[in-house]
Amino acid sequence: MERFAKSFTRQEPIPEPAIEAAVRVMRSGALHRYGAEPSEVAALEREFAASVGAAHALAVASGGYAMTAALRALGVGPGDPVLTNAWTLAPVPGAIAAVGARPVLVEVDDSLRIDLGDLEVKLPQARVLLVSHMRGHLADMEALMALCDAAGVAVVEDCAHTMGAAWNGRPSGRWGAVGCFSCQTYKHVNAGEGGLVCTDDPDLAARMILLSGSYMLYARHGTAPAEAVFARHKGTVPNVSGRMDELRAAILRPQIGALPRQVERWNALYRALEDAFRDAPGLAVVERPQAEAFVGSSIQVLAHDPARVPAFLAACAAWGVEWKWFGGAEAHGFTSRHHHWGYVAPQRLPRSDAILARLLDMRVPLTFDAADCALIGRIVAAEAARHLGAPSRARDPA
Ligand SMILES: *Cc1c(COP(=O)(O)O)cnc(C)c1O
Repeated sequence: MERFAKSFTRQEPIPEPAIEAAVRVMRSGALHRYGAEPSEVAALEREFAASVGAAHALAVASGGYAMTAALRALGVGPGDPVLTNAWTLAPVPGAIAAVGARPVLVEVDDSLRIDLGDLEVKLPQARVLLVSHMRGHLADMEALMALCDAAGVAVVEDCAHTMGAAWNGRPSGRWGAVGCFSCQTYKHVNAGEGGLVCTDDPDLAARMILLSGSYMLYARHGTAPAEAVFARHKGTVPNVSGRMDELRAAILRPQIGALPRQVERWNALYRALEDAFRDAPGLAVVERPQAEAFVGSSIQVLAHDPARVPAFLAACAAWGVEWKWFGGAEAHGFTSRHHHWGYVAPQRLPRSDAILARLLDMRVPLTFDAADCALIGRIVAAEAARHLGAPSRARDPA
């Protein structure tokens, strides 16, 4: 068996039309969204809103900023409880902490989605749920919205891993009051940094535009609500600067258009890996619900026995195959779990902890091809047989 030599964090180049657009912006010198006529940022907002079918979109500095803008626009402030999944990435509890609010963590189930039973129990504790579609796993959104609507809880969706995904045909980010997206390099479009929000609510849209630092130039936004809506909020919303610049918007516009094709490519790689991992002893793939149109930009498996995971990870790493493990003692790279978030009050989440101890995660970059997935599959199957299979059946892959 040959060693896998590619990087799990390598991006594709920025597409040529995006590079040309970026060069045009730089030649103009007009890099600020309010200095450019016509504005790339305003065009991006129109195109993104149209792509998800939203009335309003706003381009901002990061996915984390998008979430804080949504929370602030909903009136979340110091000390307020905000519900969120126990399994997510640090910027999610970080966004709640950034507005001085208090994360209340909800269990996840072994489909890696928010546990609707635990959510129902905790709904009376908060006014807002920031649901994280972590690693692209969408909850049963009809059921989730029915529970939250009945409890009067507003829903903000963290769609950092679901740009291009949908539940029962409705795009992620279009179920709750606000959808928040990231355009950071390791997500589904690559501007280095950047974020997008979408909403149908004109008051939330106006508040988020004012928050982002619009200097009274809000009429120049791509999908701004009417002047009368701004009149209700002007002067009461602080300027918390987090605008997007023309250069990033220029790079992003062609990528938004190309996303459906990229999603197909991601899913072909995902299905190839999933098929290979399905045959690996000691590992269970996470089955995707029929209603979910997902983006396979990463893949997760559950190991039967967490105690045997470290040896399996080390063996895969020796072949060049990189897993992230959510059961590690220390936070590592992008991988952390709720125990590592010292700014979040400790909470008892026994079911999530048992799942995270078994949870392995692999990035699926578009710089991989079918042959790469086949080789990764062979390495994982062989090392799983050796380290995770029934001890009596252990054999040497070499
Ligand atoms: C990356 C990420 C974010 C935030 O995005 P940034 O643009 O890095 O601020 C939010 N949620 C999840 C789950 C993420 O992975």
